[in-house]
Parts: sequence; C-alpha cells; structure tokens
Amino acid sequence: MADDAGGHRHGHSFSKKTFHKPTYCHHCSDMLWGLIQQGFICEICNFVVHDRCLKTVVSPCSSTAPSLIKNPVAHCWSETVHHKRKFCNVCRKRLDDSEAIHCEICEYYVHIECQDFAVPDCKENATYLPGKSLGLVHHEHHWREGNLPSNSKCALCKKTCWTSECLSGYRCEWCGITCHALCHINIPQECTFGILEPIYLPPHAVSIPRTEVPMEAIIGVQVRRKETMSHNNGMLLQS
Ligand SMILES: [Zn+2]
Ligand SMILES: [Zn+2]
Ligand SMILES: [Zn+2]
Ligand SMILES: [Zn+2]
Ligand SMILES: [Zn+2]
Ligand SMILES: [Zn+2]
Repeated sequence: MADDAGGHRHGHSFSKKTFHKPTYCHHCSDMLWGLIQQGFICEICNFVVHDRCLKTVVSPCSSTAPSLIKNPVAHCWSETVHHKRKFCNVCRKRLDDSEAIHCEICEYYVHIECQDFAVPDCKENATYLPGKSLGLVHHEHHWREGNLPSNSKCALCKKTCWTSECLSGYRCEWCGITCHALCHINIPQECTFGILEPIYLPPHAVSIPRTEVPMEAIIGVQVRRKETMSHNNGMLLQS
C-alpha cells in the first residue's frame, strides 16, 4: 500500500505492482516503463498510474464517485451489446466480448455485472428551477471519463488525449471538448455548448417538478403553460 499522501487521493487504494504486459497510465495515457514495479494499481477500481503521476490523480475511485454526486440523475440504459474498443466506467477493464450496456444519453459504459455500481451522474436535461433568473444561469461542462473519439486532442495543451489502451481522458457531454485528466481541472467550468450552441435547448430552459418546489407552484406553472407541456414525463418548457 502506498503510504504517501497521494496514495489515497480521491478514494483509491493504490499499491505497487509489476505488470507483465504493456500497460498504460490512466492519468496521462503514456506507457509504464521498466520491468518490475512499473507503477501503482487501485485494488478497488483497477486505476493504473505512474509513480510520477500518483500525486496529481484527479479521477475519483469507483468506490467514492457515487458519494460525490449532489443531484443523482439515472442513466438511460441501452440493450445488451458487445462493444469493441470500449472500457467499463466502473471497473475500467475492456468490455470486449463480455455483455455490456451503455447510457444512450451520456456515453457511460459498463459491464452488465458492473451496472449496480454505476455512478448516477447522467446529463441533467432539465435544470430550471421556477423563480430563477435565466440571466444568472451558468452552464458547466459535464465531464465523462474515457472512451474518447479516436484522435481526440486536448483543449488545453493541444496534445493527443485519446488512447485505445485504457480508460483515459475526459470529454464534455454537452460541447464535446476533450482533454487529459489533469488538464480538465484547469479548463474554465462554463460550457457554451460549442458549435451546437445556436441549436441547443439548454437544460436550464426546461424544468421537472421537484419535491423542494411547493405543489402550488408546480400546479400553477402547469396550468399557465399547459400548451407547452410534453406528454411523456411532465417536463415543462419555459417559453
Ligand atoms: Zn502517467
Ligand atoms: Zn480506485
Ligand atoms: Zn466493469
Ligand atoms: Zn447517462
Ligand atoms: Zn462543455
Ligand atoms: Zn492536456
């Protein structure tokens, strides 16, 4: 077990390991060099990291990630599929020929047997709270780790941040920018939806009745805005 301060960053339980086949760092996506004890691995989530990268790890462990979610949003799971060249967001291993599912909305991938440990951090598609001034709303990037489009470049350092070797790199599910794990924390949080901005209905334009909103307010809004109410799940469009 690593006894330095970096060892337990973000909930990981790192210990030194000797890897017997080519292995890549999930933090910087470079290869681990040497013949013995080339790096560390988290015993819980299989996060692999260089000695030199250990202290700057920013990705939370699968054991901690659910507790970091302030407002859980469930994923919309696909049918069972066999995904090539994708990695599980829970155990970080290849999906390959095992049965897997992914979220149709936010590209979260999991093995069927890892589904129970999935972090419920899907895109919030309705963030408007009645009474909130739209002028004060700042939309932030929604980061998803790994499984980036091939040849992705980092929005901050401009170098390649994509790899076919492990779950690495981050992408915003709204604007599509990609970056290294370390770089993503240095990118301004505000998301402007990228090139799709002119056609996006931003999530703060849509509300779902929430428990903290008084029922009269919800009913009042529904009565006034009946004509714009969608039929499936009671979403309200703020016109
Ligand atoms: Zn590294
Ligand atoms: Zn871990
Ligand atoms: Zn898995
Ligand atoms: Zn999702
Ligand atoms: Zn974004
Ligand atoms: Zn970068």
